[in-house]
Amino acid sequence: MSRFQLTIWGARGSIPAPAAANVRFGSDTSCIELRCGDHVIVLDAGTGIVGCGRELYDRGVSQIDVLLTHCHFDHIIGLPFFMPLYSSGTSVRIHAGHFEDATTCRNMVERFMCPPYFPVTPKQFAAGIQYCDFRPPEVLELFDDVRIRTVRLNHPNGAVGYRVEHGGRSVCYITDTEHRPGVRDEAICDLIAGADIMIYDSMYTDAEYPKYRGFGHSTWEEGVRLCRAAGVPRLVAFHHDISRTDAWLADLVGRAQAVFPGALVAQTGLTLDIAERVRIVETS
Ligand SMILES: [Zn+2]
Ligand SMILES: [Zn+2]
Repeated sequence: MSRFQLTIWGARGSIPAPAAANVRFGSDTSCIELRCGDHVIVLDAGTGIVGCGRELYDRGVSQIDVLLTHCHFDHIIGLPFFMPLYSSGTSVRIHAGHFEDATTCRNMVERFMCPPYFPVTPKQFAAGIQYCDFRPPEVLELFDDVRIRTVRLNHPNGAVGYRVEHGGRSVCYITDTEHRPGVRDEAICDLIAGADIMIYDSMYTDAEYPKYRGFGHSTWEEGVRLCRAAGVPRLVAFHHDISRTDAWLADLVGRAQAVFPGALVAQTGLTLDIAERVRIVETS
């Protein structure tokens, strides 16, 4: 069976959280690497993409697809430091589909990497860059053997959820999104139905949520409800708030698994083997 592996390079939301109390689960913001056969797909470009880029460069990966959920800083701030962009002989396709106006992926990156905010502009990229725009629920056929379904999420300024399918298995990446208490998000349910794994915006708990209504985020308990409703056996709680320490997140593992045995809590360095119905390969 073809390789299908997921590695978490950054699991934080909103802002990096470097602190001695956060070493185990990590401090970097959103970035996940998928290896589908020989293809490499990177979900989001938070600070986690910096380490990811170094490793891809060391592995000699010459074709990379970066799929952005949206362009809030915690999901793009690492992009200017993504080494493969400065490597000639490398091709990078950057995909975005969350815009609610005429903004394109290309002009978003140009406006973001621009003096006086940042000295390097995209003109200095040495790789071959392709900017790819789409509109959910468009299906992205990146390769013959990789198919990606998309859905619009409920988030200020828009965001896109992805379902990546390869070799008869599938991974869903659903962040940042706000649920409506008591109302199932049918679009998300439809997208994740029967998937092997869902990575989900778990910024808050149900108990905390009323204080953060309108902030555009969800809860790990809502992730459990969605997994149950859609027959997804594995939940990865993701997009941790800056206040979450290793002790708090370790406790969450126990609390979440007590109600949903397939629950995991995202941590930098966690690799899951999806081709073998999700096996934890290593943690670092
Ligand atoms: Zn975010
Ligand atoms: Zn956001």
